[in-house]
Amino acid sequence: MQSELEQRLAELRDKGLYRRLRVISGPQGPRVLLDGKPVLLLCSNNYLGFADHPRVRGAAAQAAMRYSAGAGASRLVSGNMTIHRRLEERLAEFKGYEACVLFGSGYLANTGVIQALAREGEVVLSDELNHASIIDGCRLAKAERFIYKHCDLEHLEWGLRQAAGRASLIVTDSVFSMDGDIAPLEGIVELAERYDCRVMVDEAHATGAIGPGGRGAVAAAGVEDAVDVLVGTLGKALGSYGAYVCANRTLAKYLVNTARTLIFSTALPPPTVAAALAALELLEQRPERVERLQRNARVLRSALAEHGIKVRSETQILPLVVGPAEAATAACERALERGVFAQAIRPPTVPPGTSRLRLTVMASHTEAELRDAARVLAQAVRGAQAEVAPSQFDES
Ligand code: PMP
Repeated sequence: MQSELEQRLAELRDKGLYRRLRVISGPQGPRVLLDGKPVLLLCSNNYLGFADHPRVRGAAAQAAMRYSAGAGASRLVSGNMTIHRRLEERLAEFKGYEACVLFGSGYLANTGVIQALAREGEVVLSDELNHASIIDGCRLAKAERFIYKHCDLEHLEWGLRQAAGRASLIVTDSVFSMDGDIAPLEGIVELAERYDCRVMVDEAHATGAIGPGGRGAVAAAGVEDAVDVLVGTLGKALGSYGAYVCANRTLAKYLVNTARTLIFSTALPPPTVAAALAALELLEQRPERVERLQRNARVLRSALAEHGIKVRSETQILPLVVGPAEAATAACERALERGVFAQAIRPPTVPPGTSRLRLTVMASHTEAELRDAARVLAQAVRGAQAEVAPSQFDES
C-alpha cells in the first residue's frame, strides 16, 4: 500500500504537480519570513492587512478571555453564542440583507448551501470556473448539474431552456478566484428572473475588495434584491476565518434546518468571530483601504505591462499565466530566489496548460515594492519558460 502511494506521489512529481507545504514564521503581512527567508508576499488573500492588524488581533485575544477559546458544540446544540449573533447582524446590515447565517468556512458554506437548495429532480447551473467548493457542492447535491461556459450568458440561457422549468439555482463566483474577472451579474439575475430560478453568488474575493465601501460586486451592480443567496468568507479581506450566507429570513431559517455542514459541524470559535467583527468595524471606518488595494492592483498591472506582460483582470487578483505546470513551478522558484513569493497554481486548480503565478496585491504593499516585484516576476517567468519548454514560447 505504502509503495503505491509513493508511486502516485512520484507521478505527481513527474508531471510537475507535486505540492509541498511552505512555512511562514511570525505574523502575516506584506513581508513575511518564508521558510526562514524574508520575502515580499504576493499570494495572500489578507487583502486589507486585517489579519495582522493590532485591533483585530487584540479583539481575538480579548474574546478568548471573555467567552472561551472554542464554542464547544455545533450551533444547534450548545455552540451558539451572543457573539455569533452579533456578527450575523452586522454582516446582514453591511451587505443589505434581511438575515445572515455563519458557517465554519467558505468551503462548508458553499457545499452546505448548494446541497440544501438544489434538490432531486431540479437542475443547478454553475460557471465552469467556479471555486472548487461550489463544484463539490454541486456534486454533493442530488440535483442535475449544468456547467455553463465561463461568464457565457448565451450558454447559461441554453441550459435554462434545456432544464425546462426544473432549474432551481444558478451559482457563480462574483470575482473569480484564479482569474480576477467579474461575473456578469446583471445578465445572470435577469435570466434567473425570466426562468424563475434562484441566484447564489460567492463574494469571497469581492467582499472588502471591490464595490462601494468594499461591499462587493453584488452591491456594485445594485442587484442585492435579485441575488437570493450571497456567500462571503471571513478568511480573506476580513482577516479571520469562517464564512457567512446572507439571504432573506425564510431562506436563512431553511439553511439552519437543512444545511448539513452547519448542522453537523462545531460553531466558529469566539476569538475568530471577534476578529471578524473588529475587521468589519475597521472596514466601515476606513473604506479608503479598499481604494488603496485597487490602486495597488493598477500599479502592479501597469508595471507588469511595462515589462511586456499583459494581465487580464479587473481586480486585485492578477493571473500571470505561464503555461505548463513545470514552468509555473520554475518561475515561482526563480522569483523566490530574488525575494518575491507568488505561489504557482497548477491543475486541477486551473485548466491544464494555464498554470500560473496567481498574484494578489495587498493594500499594505508600497508602490516601490510592486514595481520591483514586477521586474523580478517578468524575468522569472521568461527564464522559466526558456528553461522548461523553450519551443513553446518561441516568439518567432
Ligand atoms: N469561494 C472562493 C471563491 C474561494 O476562493 C475560497 C477559498 N479560496 C472559498 C470559497 C473557500 O473559502 P474558505 O477558505 O473559507 O473555505
